[in-house]
Amino acid sequence: MDAAWARIRGRLRAEVGEAEYRTWLRQLTLAGVEGEEAIVHVPSRFLRDWLRGQYGDRLRALWQAEGLGVRRVDIRVASGGGDPLPAAAPGPVAEPALAEPLTEPLAATRPAGEARAEPPKPSPEARGAEARGDWAAPLDPRFTFDSFVVGKPNEFAHACARRVAEKPNSPGFNPLFLYGGVGLGKTHLMHSIAWAIRAPQGGGAGRSVAYMSAEKFMYRFIAALRSQSTMEFKESLRSVDVLMIDDLQFLIGKDNTQEEFFHTFNALVDQGKQIVVSSDKPPSDLAGLEDRLRTRLGCGMVADIHATTYELRISILEAKAVSAGVPVPPKVLEFLAHKITSNVRELEGALNRLIAHANLFGRPVTLESCQDVLHDVLRAHDRRVTIEEIQKRVAEHYNIRLTDMSSARRARNVARPRQVAMYLAKQLTSRSLPEIGKKFGNRDHTTVMHAVSRIAELMQGDAGFAEDVELLRRMLET
Ligand code: ADP
Ligand code: MG
Repeated sequence: MDAAWARIRGRLRAEVGEAEYRTWLRQLTLAGVEGEEAIVHVPSRFLRDWLRGQYGDRLRALWQAEGLGVRRVDIRVASGGGDPLPAAAPGPVAEPALAEPLTEPLAATRPAGEARAEPPKPSPEARGAEARGDWAAPLDPRFTFDSFVVGKPNEFAHACARRVAEKPNSPGFNPLFLYGGVGLGKTHLMHSIAWAIRAPQGGGAGRSVAYMSAEKFMYRFIAALRSQSTMEFKESLRSVDVLMIDDLQFLIGKDNTQEEFFHTFNALVDQGKQIVVSSDKPPSDLAGLEDRLRTRLGCGMVADIHATTYELRISILEAKAVSAGVPVPPKVLEFLAHKITSNVRELEGALNRLIAHANLFGRPVTLESCQDVLHDVLRAHDRRVTIEEIQKRVAEHYNIRLTDMSSARRARNVARPRQVAMYLAKQLTSRSLPEIGKKFGNRDHTTVMHAVSRIAELMQGDAGFAEDVELLRRMLET
């Protein structure tokens, strides 16, 4: 028996890898075999539950494969094995101290290093909620498809989100992986999908949706470990129809939570359930996420939300001003859309401040009041781009020499990029036309003026060219 046990341990070690083995499996000892049952001891209840959940089946299979008549494995806490001290337990609980206080009774955690004799027990209501598969993190009622403004940068992601909301688990759309920079609408789209699926007339009438941030997933997982309810945790998660995890990048470096997510993910996909994930990067760039997880994440639909364009910013501002019911002059909207280019959240924040201010003082929103109320925000967003940077970027982009920005050459292939650079210098800096002219080989201010209007004209007539210039502008602005 001891030889068989040694072989089984050797196999497990090879299968799970050294680190995992040392964290979880090394402390298993064979207490004996009684009839068809092998009895394995572990030092704590905590470990027992974890091992039962994670390795119970595998252990049984390995024993059966030994052909010694063992059909069951009982993992028990060795007598004298006290209750687990969460801080001393291996693995997930040794993860970095959690930064945020938790509001939910279920997600009981405390800073690492602070030991307790008893793991916290979740309240009966919380346990009940979990057992019902009631995973819903509250959805923001403002984040629906109706209030999502669609434009070039997000139309693909939006279309994918719609599709999944209307028909979960469509071929090619599972998992749906949405990614994009901060404040560009990932969470908004995720909530929209969840609302739509939950709506009685939605694509998933009667389906259960679990939406949560990756951070929350981790808290819940750790809490389940501590309260010895990992089985409930697993079961309730695996019983949902749609699992949505927001900000997956949070799982980077959280190996045990990642592992758990991976298993949940696979279990759900195997059952034909829909997964939706968001992240700030595409799967391929999520360094620190296990390869197999990255691979699986990338094998459905990957859709990115690009940085906003001026047009989208205007549309969003218009929509928000209308829904706030406060008249905002177009000049103000244009001003904001030009000035606040970082993301939608900041744009929205600025508009909300303007509106709040107008309501508070009973005054209309004007360009002056806008500059006044938002002076701090606007200063932070002041473009500090220099003419030199613009010349450099534009020269790189069109593959001409930097010196041609100030040279006298008039060939179209250098003259046009030079004009683009002048145009951008006028748009993005507060330099005057003569100042700009000076930086471009001492050209006259009328030359700059001509370049600016020529480029504007070309952009009007040629969408491809306009896009090119917009792209340069965006690169320079960020
Ligand atoms: P992310 O999750 O990508 O960081 P959010 O979804 O939280 O961004 O969006 C930030 C804010 O901007 C939210 O208030 C959201 O409603 C708003 N927002 C983002 N994109 C749009 C859009 N296309 N239309 C309307 N509102 C948007
Ligand atoms: Mg978000």
